[in-house]
Amino acid sequence: LAGGVIHLERAALPGGAPRNVLLIVIDTLGARHVGHLLRPAPEPSHTPEIDALSRRGVTFANAFTPAPWTRPAIASLFTGRMPSRHGVEGPVDRLAQRHATLAEELAARGFATGAITSQPLLRLGSGYRQGFASYDDSHALGREAVTARSVSDAAIAWLDAHAHERFFLLAYYFDPHDAYQHHEAHDLTSGYAGPLEPGMDIWKLREQRAAFGPEDVAYLVGLHREEIAQSDAEVGRLLRHLATRGLERDTLVVLTADHGEELMEHGWIGHMRTLYDELLQVPLVVSLPGRIAPRRIDAPVSLLDIAPTILAIAGMPPDDAEAGRDGVSLVRALRGDASALEERELYAEVDYAPPEGGDRREELSARKSALVGPRWKLVHDQPSGRFELYDRESDPGEQRDLWGRSPEGLRLRQQLLAFELSRPRRSSASSAPSANPADNADLARLRELGYLR
Ligand SMILES: [Zn+2]
Repeated sequence: LAGGVIHLERAALPGGAPRNVLLIVIDTLGARHVGHLLRPAPEPSHTPEIDALSRRGVTFANAFTPAPWTRPAIASLFTGRMPSRHGVEGPVDRLAQRHATLAEELAARGFATGAITSQPLLRLGSGYRQGFASYDDSHALGREAVTARSVSDAAIAWLDAHAHERFFLLAYYFDPHDAYQHHEAHDLTSGYAGPLEPGMDIWKLREQRAAFGPEDVAYLVGLHREEIAQSDAEVGRLLRHLATRGLERDTLVVLTADHGEELMEHGWIGHMRTLYDELLQVPLVVSLPGRIAPRRIDAPVSLLDIAPTILAIAGMPPDDAEAGRDGVSLVRALRGDASALEERELYAEVDYAPPEGGDRREELSARKSALVGPRWKLVHDQPSGRFELYDRESDPGEQRDLWGRSPEGLRLRQQLLAFELSRPRRSSASSAPSANPADNADLARLRELGYLR
């Protein structure tokens, strides 16, 4: 009997650990473009499939990424560590082998592991493959390609091939990233009569942005949402296949994004340079019908929490502090008790400098940190020493900087400076022009995607 009690206590969820894990990441999907997170909800929603998943599972309405662009964010997702602790921050940084990744931990426990990705920045050689027995990056065809369909096709084929094993599959969608393409089936832009077109080069958009009127910005938001709708439909096709195969009740599904997109909310187009909520706030849905009851949780949570949560649910209660993770398991919240998370303060950081000799280095360099609390948000631009303080409750768009006008600022500054001091010192997140051909291939990809000029 005692053994039985211990067993029950160890199981993270009633009914025990699910057999499988499906992790779905949609690149460049900010929370403010996801139907079920919008108030008022758009009618019709352009993310009906994600909304339906959210009704079947737990919706974290305040989920944040610790980094405003793909490579550090995904390294944080895989390791549960802050960017300055896994070290993937500059243009050619790679995820070091010494870090235990989610896929490695699951593979070590006998999971069949596979990744399907269409994100060029996650191609082989960048360190993200660790732990994945198969890593299919053949769908990464560049910024103009529409690849959601081929990612779902490959993910469905992989599921079919591994349905009888205990599996962990990552399905990674890229389309909402620029260039923003038009999708007739999800049309939100056909009424536009201005000069902008689908598929425009992001630097062209940036150069013309000073002349944009509200209808031009609405057009870009519309195109971006058409891309999101296209990815949403393909995610739905993958999830329906999971159900058709009878795997839905034994597969933990986690859906999230690496970061969002700036579409002129603060005068820029793209991501990576700032830490505003249009970049940091992302969707997070966790679904396991029958074992996790649907609910909405408003407490702040992080992408860093996903690896500890999946490991705990999969039956590997890890000691996150011992494992060197900055995230925490969200299992208690999934079981209905989010009280431990409610006053939590999260951090985000970016330390990126283009290689010497490139154009627009100044404009593209960013060294910032941010503290995100349930109500207040403080951003520190380290080179200038400037702080910005926002009341997320009354000003969710972060348009009124209250630095110097609220005593909260000084308390949060202490905390944010202490966080910065606790970070490992980097020699530099910048890189000199490189003779390494792998670095040069990386730099070419970054240039193609608008991270360098
Ligand atoms: Zn990304």
